[in-house]
Amino acid sequence: MGESLPGEILIVGGGTAGWMAAAALARTLNRQARITLIESGSIGTVGVGEATIPAIRHFNRLLGFNEGDFLAFTQGTYKLGIEFRNWRREGHSYFHPFGVYGSSLDASYTHQYWLRLRQLGEGGELADYSLCSVMAALGRYTAPASANSQRDRDILPSIGSAYHFDAALYAQYLRLYAERLGVVRLDRNIVDVVLRGEDGFIEAVVAEGGERLKADFFIDCTGFAGLLIEKALKAGYEEWTHWLPCDRAWAVPSASDGRIVPYTRSTARDAGWQWRIPLRHRVGNGYVFSSNHLGEEAACQTLLSSLDSAALAEPKLLRFTTGRRRQAWVKNCVSLGLSSGFLEPLESTSIHLIQTGITRLLDLFPGKRIEPAEVAEYNALTQAEYEAVRDFLILHYHVTERTGSPLWNDCRTMAIPDSLRQRIDLFRQRGRVSTRGRALFSDTSWLSVLLGQGIMPETYDPLVDVHALDAIRERMGTMRRRIRQAAEAMPTHEAYLAGARAA
Ligand SMILES: Cc1cc2nc3c(=O)[nH]c(=O)nc-3n(C[C@H](O)[C@H](O)[C@H](O)COP(=O)(O)OP(=O)(O)OC[C@H]3O[C@@H](n4cnc5c(N)ncnc54)[C@H](O)[C@@H]3O)c2cc1C
Repeated sequence: MGESLPGEILIVGGGTAGWMAAAALARTLNRQARITLIESGSIGTVGVGEATIPAIRHFNRLLGFNEGDFLAFTQGTYKLGIEFRNWRREGHSYFHPFGVYGSSLDASYTHQYWLRLRQLGEGGELADYSLCSVMAALGRYTAPASANSQRDRDILPSIGSAYHFDAALYAQYLRLYAERLGVVRLDRNIVDVVLRGEDGFIEAVVAEGGERLKADFFIDCTGFAGLLIEKALKAGYEEWTHWLPCDRAWAVPSASDGRIVPYTRSTARDAGWQWRIPLRHRVGNGYVFSSNHLGEEAACQTLLSSLDSAALAEPKLLRFTTGRRRQAWVKNCVSLGLSSGFLEPLESTSIHLIQTGITRLLDLFPGKRIEPAEVAEYNALTQAEYEAVRDFLILHYHVTERTGSPLWNDCRTMAIPDSLRQRIDLFRQRGRVSTRGRALFSDTSWLSVLLGQGIMPETYDPLVDVHALDAIRERMGTMRRRIRQAAEAMPTHEAYLAGARAA
């Protein structure tokens, strides 16, 4: 007979993190533990977090969501990657696509063949070999599974896509799901946390009015407040503001003009960058900036004056400190979402970090007893993941030709983590992409940002010369043509969404 599960699990917080955790735990624990979620209607949620990366598909699959139903409910759209405008320098733009360069069969070598051709002034742009980049440029979308010819069957699997959705509707969708599986929701304002005298574990949280809510295991999803993990358990916070200096964001929705591009846009500005996330019913916009380099009012004006269409609400200001909780799991409490740290939204990684936190928790799920070795393993894996995301984000800020504004001058000249320095050096020589931390960001991601920000390798992998130059030319020329033809044969993103809705 194995050890029994914690009988009572209390999730405090009902934002994206709280409801993702509730849904996944309810599905996995199969009513073998009581799950309660507390949220506060008066405090509300952070209300942003609308762009994702492709791994979210695994989460949706775990829960058994129907994609059409999910996207219709959340006003969702497809995301094939991110367009980075002005990041390398004013007027320059590049695309960070999902999926792979080349087809799934020869993905790891495509950029090396391209580097070979480029030395001869041939081969066009690397983006020409990415189906997602070409689809995004043409505004097209189709599902990888829709391949019905042999030609499509080896090209279409190279599509990688994620979603944009309305964060509030996503939380509602998850809530409906979790409540159907028995999760109990309470609207309470938590004002205190009671620790057990003997071991400092959390015994209960206390709601306004004095009601005590006890549990065996707690999940802190209280957002930036970190009510359990920090205020009660003092887990500590490691700040990364010296590498990721943006600490404010204004967010505002604007009207949709009916054209829904299948990608996020990120535009660098003097004191930060601006996002544009197209949903079906509106466009999400925001200006992420460093308050050391620009005042809040001026940042708000910059955002409002650069919208493509009319603002639909008052802009909302968010304040944050980039970094990570030193211990994401302490005693009988795991933190998920903003309570466990926040890097910044540049590569849409927060929802993903919630997802991997939940997966890790399920991999190391406690019994009635908490095992310190499992807690240590959870914390070490979480730290490694946060550091991998951190390095990828720093790359965007540090490798740039932007001059003329203090923020970019600071970022361009700052000392960077050794782990990132090694990656850059490795790439600069022969275009090799380090496979460390590959699980989160693929070679495609690193490649597109390393090249896009302006690092051109000195030469290519010597193994490329095993192949005759004409054979490389032929292979790459065919690849470009087939990718172009496949993308041109697809419906527009808007037509695809309308078709999915009708179905
Ligand atoms: C500017 C910005 C842009 C972002 N963009 C993206 C993006 O594009 N993609 C992405 O993946 N992520 C993004 N994120 C991160 C994303 O918003 C969060 O990871 C996600 O929304 C999860 O938030 P949360 O659930 O941790 O916190 P919240 O949404 O803040 O939820 C906290 C919950 O705790 C409850 N609560 C708090 N205090 C108490 C209390 N005392 N008593 C009871 N309940 C309480 C609140 O009521 C709420 O229900 C962005 C974040 C910011 C700041």
